[in-house]
Amino acid sequence: MNLLNDKVAVITGAARGIGEATARLFADNGARVVIGDLDLAAAEQAAKEIDPERVHGFGCDVADPGQVTALLAFAREEFGSVDVVVNNAGITRDATLKKMTVDQFDQVVAVHLRGAWLGTQAAAEAMRAQGSGGAIINMSSISGKVGFFGQTNYSAAKAGMHGFSKALAYEVARKGVTVNTISPGYIGTKMVLAIPKDVLDSKILPQIPMGRLGKPDEVAGLCAYLASDEAAFVTGANIAINGGQHMQ
Ligand code: NAD
Repeated sequence: MNLLNDKVAVITGAARGIGEATARLFADNGARVVIGDLDLAAAEQAAKEIDPERVHGFGCDVADPGQVTALLAFAREEFGSVDVVVNNAGITRDATLKKMTVDQFDQVVAVHLRGAWLGTQAAAEAMRAQGSGGAIINMSSISGKVGFFGQTNYSAAKAGMHGFSKALAYEVARKGVTVNTISPGYIGTKMVLAIPKDVLDSKILPQIPMGRLGKPDEVAGLCAYLASDEAAFVTGANIAINGGQHMQ
């Protein structure tokens, strides 16, 4: 299948988890991909395993403006354009408000909100200059819709991603650039599998009508659709993928 027709995609936080599954599916569908990740060795390893010709790794902290600019420039130098950006890098630093430090708040806001904003700004600029449209996909979370205990930092950052995505969707629509957010529920990656199994089984799975965790490949499939030409009229949307845990 060639759903992505040689498009060039930059995917942050794609050394593992949802991002890695997305990089793999994009490459399988004809895209060329740059994996931007804090962990350069893991990014290079993932690129090598997926397809060293079509996928390259690049070390990048998404919270650092200079490094994000360098990531986008690398993609243009390697592959000639940037057609899709998936702002996916993420961390959690959970604590109740009483115990949360300013550093824990700042780190989470910096990676998710500032990081996605920086990636989006650099991508929108490149796409405007190319004049051939594009797709920006921001990885939010169910936590930004419903609020989760111990995640005042994460829920705030993830909710903020919707606001800026919608505002930007207006700004770039006439240029054929789409801006959407995806809000996964619980997906079986390292981030979620770090939760003790008894807590997963007794507290989390009972909240999910499907009775299971989502798979990284399922989120990747939604990313591939939003990145494709078939989704050119979808913009400013926030698409939930959560097994029915939160229905809007
Ligand atoms: P993960 O922890 O498996 O992978 C995250 C990746 O991001 C890692 O490779 C890590 O090195 C990278 N990263 C962390 N900080 C970075 C930074 N400053 N700059 C660049 N890269 C950085 O995470 P995941 O579960 O695959 O989640 C991916 C995204 O999906 C995140 O934004 C997360 O908040 C969101 N999400 C995940 C779930 C879930 O259930 N797993 C649910 C909702 C939303």
